[in-house]
Amino acid sequence: MSEQPRVEIYTKTQCPYCDKAKDLFDSKGIEYETYNVTGDDELFEEMVERAEGRKTAPEVFIDDELIGGWDETAALEETGELDEKLGLVTDGGSETEHRKLIIAGTGIAGLTAAIYAGRGDNQPLVIEGDEPGGQLTLTTDVANYPGFPEGISGPDLVNNMKEQAKQFGAELKNGIIESVDADQRPFRVELTNGDVYTADAIIAASGASARTLGIPGEDELMGYGLSTCATCDGAFFRDEDMLVVGGGDAAMEEATFLTKFADTVYIAHRREEFRAEQYWIDRVHEKVEEGEIEIMKNTEVTEIHGSQEAGVDHVTLVENEQGHPTDRLDDPETNEFEFDVGAVFFAIGHTPNTAYLEGTGVTMDDEGYLRTQGGDGGGQTETDVPGIFGAGDVVDYHYQQAVTAAGMGSKAALDADEYLEDLERAESSAETEAAAADD
Ligand SMILES: Cc1cc2nc3c(=O)[nH]c(=O)nc-3n(C[C@H](O)[C@H](O)[C@H](O)COP(=O)(O)OP(=O)(O)OC[C@H]3O[C@@H](n4cnc5c(N)ncnc54)[C@H](O)[C@@H]3O)c2cc1C
Repeated sequence: MSEQPRVEIYTKTQCPYCDKAKDLFDSKGIEYETYNVTGDDELFEEMVERAEGRKTAPEVFIDDELIGGWDETAALEETGELDEKLGLVTDGGSETEHRKLIIAGTGIAGLTAAIYAGRGDNQPLVIEGDEPGGQLTLTTDVANYPGFPEGISGPDLVNNMKEQAKQFGAELKNGIIESVDADQRPFRVELTNGDVYTADAIIAASGASARTLGIPGEDELMGYGLSTCATCDGAFFRDEDMLVVGGGDAAMEEATFLTKFADTVYIAHRREEFRAEQYWIDRVHEKVEEGEIEIMKNTEVTEIHGSQEAGVDHVTLVENEQGHPTDRLDDPETNEFEFDVGAVFFAIGHTPNTAYLEGTGVTMDDEGYLRTQGGDGGGQTETDVPGIFGAGDVVDYHYQQAVTAAGMGSKAALDADEYLEDLERAESSAETEAAAADD
């Protein structure tokens, strides 16, 4: 075996994506050095210089080569190139392994399903996807998950659940499911790195990913002052004016969180009314009264200006008091103006991760959320394809809470267990009949 390459990771305190990067290398048994840049200006400058101007952590290096942040590292993992760089690639094609149950996702839904399925002796294989631990790893403070009167950090909750799932026999594996072939039984499950499994049943608990706007400046500045995770990147823009885009719970929570660092936090929302829970609206209004947040209603961002060297400089905004100003660009009442900010955070909702199920016959709604049986009694998490179940945010576009995802995860594991038992019974009675016919 060749010598392990030198892996270095620049991290910061309270950085979920840094934890994800470390977890990924841990799962591969790769040793690495970490440098925490929080409160160390010299180290921060060193990171920025080595990372070609990028100001976000983590920044990963392999043998002095800049790999980038979590997104770039995860992208290399997806294609198998990370293993190549780490010298982990072995010759010879991978064999197809059979599993009773494969669970897509290690968010709250997938991990709860894994705990139940493990206890049900279904030895689940749980595929982590490109966001190990799911969305909750992006938040430092979960105050509404039952059983934790003092609250718990998202990464701690997820790690506890991973431990619990492993104790009951679940196997967690890095990888992303690319496709499921439901024309054959057992199902054929292919990962983006080329690994192939067969499975008798699948629980889709693949959640949802942060949306972006597709506006000019977005691709260039993502990671250079534009972010979809305030808790991850807010501290890098201390004393700057910051703009949060959105009007739901996430936008309110992120704006409130950012007041710790920002000079002023601005919220741009395309409508008059917020969609957030009253609790969050009240928290934001408290901050407005304290002069820490300013709200810009009926306002949308159309362009982000800046450079990778200097970060975000300003944004172009449009405003129309009737709302949805980008639909009214020709309206003389629509005002366009430039607005100085040092950082922009998108908090505009999520897209369900269901591309790998296309072509299976599973019904999805217009946005791609899975449609399950629902209703009362057993089988609520069944999709249209027997043996494929759905749980968590990938199904639930409405509640989207950790505890509801957990509830659905447990239901999916119980439904899958029933399905697997029926399958086993059917297979053994077919064998008995075949044996009787041979006699
Ligand atoms: C910033 C923030 C703060 C939040 N705070 C709270 C809170 O305080 N309380 C609360 O109740 N809720 C909170 N939520 C909501 C909560 O995080 C979600 O409702 C919950 O995480 C949904 O869990 P899930 O398992 O359904 O999906 P997710 O958490 O989205 O997990 C999806 C999993 O699927 C994996 N995956 C995706 N595609 C594939 C694929 N092709 N193959 C394999 N795996 C795949 C991903 O990698 C991930 O592991 C918050 C959300 C955010 C973003």
